[in-house]
Amino acid sequence: MRLHNFCAGPAALPTAVLEKAKAEMLDWQGKGLSVMEMSHRSDAFIGITQQAEQNLRTLLNIPTNYQVLFLQGGASLQFSALPLNLLPSGKTADYLDTGVWSAKALKEAKRYGNIQVVASAQNNGYTCVSEQSTWQVSDDAAYFHYCPNETINGLAMHDIPQVKAPLVADMSSCILSTPIDVSQFGVIYAGAQKNIGPAGLTLVIVRDDVLAEANPACPSLMNYAQQAKHGSMINTPPTYAWYLAGLVFEWLLEQGGLLVVAKMNQQKAELLYRFIDDHTFYNNPVAKKNRSIMNVPFTLADSRLDKLFLQQSEQAGLLNLAGHRSVGGMRASIYNAVSLQAVQDLTEFMADFAAKHG
Ligand SMILES: *Cc1c(COP(=O)(O)O)cnc(C)c1O
Repeated sequence: MRLHNFCAGPAALPTAVLEKAKAEMLDWQGKGLSVMEMSHRSDAFIGITQQAEQNLRTLLNIPTNYQVLFLQGGASLQFSALPLNLLPSGKTADYLDTGVWSAKALKEAKRYGNIQVVASAQNNGYTCVSEQSTWQVSDDAAYFHYCPNETINGLAMHDIPQVKAPLVADMSSCILSTPIDVSQFGVIYAGAQKNIGPAGLTLVIVRDDVLAEANPACPSLMNYAQQAKHGSMINTPPTYAWYLAGLVFEWLLEQGGLLVVAKMNQQKAELLYRFIDDHTFYNNPVAKKNRSIMNVPFTLADSRLDKLFLQQSEQAGLLNLAGHRSVGGMRASIYNAVSLQAVQDLTEFMADFAAKHG
């Protein structure tokens, strides 16, 4: 029996994808072996990667002047890879601080060069992003980094910043949740374990013209140009995770693509936020314009009830509702693979709980 999983990551995967992987586990398409046991240089596996990339390009409408890389190390390794690839010595990179993840990204980047924090939402507890007109943007930044969906804080930016420098976005927890205009970005990166597939795979989509000279100290495995040249296979890639990501892309196309998926996500998020706003027992602190469609943090009127809420929700088949350890409270992550039914069941449970304890 599969329960409703609201984990922030590694997160729920579509049951249909797991079924397909199960059916192909021992013998992939008559080849007599599992994808896990294939050479990454084999025609069969190369075919799997090409199909995965093609489907991703279709889903996101990725222009031909962008490279798609399937790397390792998680989104966190990209915090270092970005300055090592894009920040020449003496230049500055701009960072917008909107939550735990963008703060980590800029802290790591500071190890490699000049980092300008253009604005920080830390002083409002990461609940609201200031207007772009107030940001201290550099004149000549090598790139501008931001995180459109802060997974831990449940804070999202629904408008793309308009800046001169190449725009770099950590889309780990929002990629494939809605259509995006890839052409507005220099680099998009995302750890796979939220909305793409299993942990161990990291997606990097990079525009050709931002691939300048990388820092000579940049490890080859983190060097975008070199990885692009080698089809993301300088060394053995995470083959099974790559294959599963491909199955997820296929599943998204079968759903009708990202417009259809976005509508469903909107419906799920509206249902949950409306419920929270209608019940004083629950609270979400994020400014309405910055509310995340994917990660919905909320608190109970009395935090002494947190433990009981988590115990009873788990008994009701609603898994992983604890907020991140750094912020506490609750969080429901409602990625693509989490159904409307799951959110309905969650709100019913929350209503019952509030009625008993409110
Ligand atoms: C999960 C997450 C990360 C970290 O991902 P890892 O793959 O664990 O390194 C970074 N940024 C965002 C927005 C995330 O949601």
